[in-house]
Amino acid sequence: MTSISLPELCLVALIGASGSGKTTFAREQFAPGEVLSSDAFRMLVSGDENAQDATHDAFEALYFVARQRLRRGLLTVIDATSVQADARRHIVALAREFDVLPVAVVLDLPEDVLMARYRARTDRHFGPQVISGQVGQLRKSLGKLQAEGFRHVTVLRSAEDVRAVSITRTR
Ligand code: ATP
Repeated sequence: MTSISLPELCLVALIGASGSGKTTFAREQFAPGEVLSSDAFRMLVSGDENAQDATHDAFEALYFVARQRLRRGLLTVIDATSVQADARRHIVALAREFDVLPVAVVLDLPEDVLMARYRARTDRHFGPQVISGQVGQLRKSLGKLQAEGFRHVTVLRSAEDVRAVSITRTR
């Protein structure tokens, strides 16, 4: 079992390729209002959670809500792939803005598992090469997260690892 100890107020980034199980993990481990999902914000701003052309507006809305939550002292989880350093820079900057700990939970599942899940899904319209690209970006990122500013980094490497996480919150 992997234990993750979180301060009651922190900014959690779930990091992983599409299909790694971020949304499922978030649903199991956090309260609904705590989780800001890029897909949900794409849906809110455009009516389509797959609309890539809505990404900019979706993240603007997501970060607006994240700021409101952090200002109120509420733990916040960002459920987006965040496999690119640029995306993570915004998360770390946001945490610093509110002087809260940026925490990374990485779902680094084997590519064949991601591909099998992708094939079984009907709700994703991009090609499988998108997932391979994300896996490549994630692998390049793994050694850099601490240096980027993430203070707690947990890397989960299998569906079993993801399922066996126990999160506790400390004051
Ligand atoms: P995306 O970035 O595309 O939104 P995600 O990382 O949020 O993906 P989920 O939406 O949680 O991933 O899950 C992707 C798919 O994988 C879903 O069809 C889900 O049912 C399936 N899945 C998630 N976790 C598991 C698991 N432990 N075992 C089997 N299938 C899983």
